[in-house]
This record gives sequence, structure tokens and C-alpha cells, in this order.
Amino acid sequence: MKKFTKFMSLLLAGTMLLGAAGCGSSDTSAEGEGTTAQTDETASTVKTSQEGKLIWATNAAFEPYEYMEGDTVVGIDAEIADAIAAKLGLEAQVENMEFDAIIPAVTSGKADIGLAGMTVSEERLMNVNFSDTYVEAGQAIIVKEGSDIKSAADLNGKVVGVQRGTTGDEYVSDEANGVGVASVERFSNGPDAAQSLLTDKIDAVVIDNEPAKKLVENSEGLVKLDENLTSEQYAIAVAKDNTELLDAINGALSEMKENGELQAILDKYLNA
Ligand code: GLN
Repeated sequence: MKKFTKFMSLLLAGTMLLGAAGCGSSDTSAEGEGTTAQTDETASTVKTSQEGKLIWATNAAFEPYEYMEGDTVVGIDAEIADAIAAKLGLEAQVENMEFDAIIPAVTSGKADIGLAGMTVSEERLMNVNFSDTYVEAGQAIIVKEGSDIKSAADLNGKVVGVQRGTTGDEYVSDEANGVGVASVERFSNGPDAAQSLLTDKIDAVVIDNEPAKKLVENSEGLVKLDENLTSEQYAIAVAKDNTELLDAINGALSEMKENGELQAILDKYLNA
């Protein structure tokens, strides 16, 4: 009997210790098993279009954010998609499409999220929600070596190439920005625009700064100007009616910001 009591009190002490540890590791949990219960809850209550999957829509011609390596989509956003999916207990699956098809894919439920170096804008916010931002970016100008275009002011009267439906397209097309281009040529992706520039069909390309650096690296004869034309934030697009998924993504993103995971992904591709 004495032995039994001792055993019981040890057991009780152990349970209390576990309980205390559980409380300490999560400020929202009221009980010992709160931490575990919470994680399970996140994985099971998030609804996606296909059970167990997180389908991300992108345009994989936007190095270093998303691009093809053989048959695989790689890059910053690909790694972010994998990391978020893992935290949500889901498997990431990519859908590669035209950039201007991404938001329609998200609103129609064909994809769960749009993850494509996508800038938060008022216009897009009318159709989708955006997660917290994960990158600061801006538009840059690419020209051929020896071009007389040295700044945004010199785009005046020129034929400028952009990727269709992007903020670069918006910037050069909007007369309010005072760019005054002769015409805007819209391409499916940056590499196509760069090719057109190399063959003198257009005078300049306006595209996001990091992809601009990669395009210049990948094709001889092009240079990127230092000037940043805009200040933009990238975020993940989520359907307006799926706020649970939005919250879960924001939770995963903030964890990745805090533990350095996000920075490690960015460093891998941006400071290479
Ligand atoms: N950041 C730009 C936009 O959101 C371009 C994105 C892209 O081409 N993938 O419009």
C-alpha cells in the first residue's frame, strides 16, 4: 500500500510537471496538451480544394522566385510553398500558368493560393485577400548595352516591354505616372520580353528588380539600371472566403520570419 501511494504521487508530480511545461510553451493553451491539440487543429480545420494538398498557382518564368529546372518548379516561392504546406500538414502542388490567370484560379478554387512574386495592390484586394508580406520589391528598367535610356525619364517616347497584367505593366501604362511611353508591348513572361529587347524590337523592359538582375545575368548584352521605379510588397493571394487558410498561412509565415527560415530561403537565391 505504501509503495502504491509513492507511485501515485510520483505519477501526479510528473503529470503536473508536464502540464506546466505545456502551459509554458504556448500562451494560448489552457491545458497541458494544448500545444499538441492546437497543431492538430490547424492541420485538420484548414480547407483546401483537394484534401491534403495545398495547390499554389504561379508563373514559373520569374527567376529567382519561380522558374523551371528540368520539369521542376524551383525558387524562393517554391520553397516557401513547401515550407508552409509542411507546417499545415499538407502537400504542396504547383499549377503553372500565365501570370494574369493566377488570381482567377484562386477565386474560382482551381488553386488554393497565388504565390508568384505577387505585389499587393488595391485592385487585386478587390478580388482576393493577401497574407502578410514576405518581400520588399520594386520595378527596374532593363536596356541593351549602350542604350541612350539612362533613367525612367528617358522612357518617354520609347517602346517598352512588360509582363502582361503585372505591376510593371500598370506602371508604364498609367499616364498618371508621367512616363509617357510611345507604346507598351505585353509579353507572357520576362524572358520573352528580354528576347525582344535583344533583337531590337523594343527599347526597354520594365520588370521587378530581382528578376531583372537574373534576366541580365542570363542574357549577354543587357544591363539593368540602378533606379527603382516603385516600392512594392509581395504577399500570398488567398480566396476571400477562406480566412482560415489565410490565418494559417500568416501563422506559418510569422514562424518562418521568427526562426530565420524565410531569411535563409531568401539568402540562398538573392545573395548567390
Ligand atoms: N510583382 C509583379 C506583380 O505582382 C510581377 C509578378 C510576376 O510577374 N510574377 O504584378
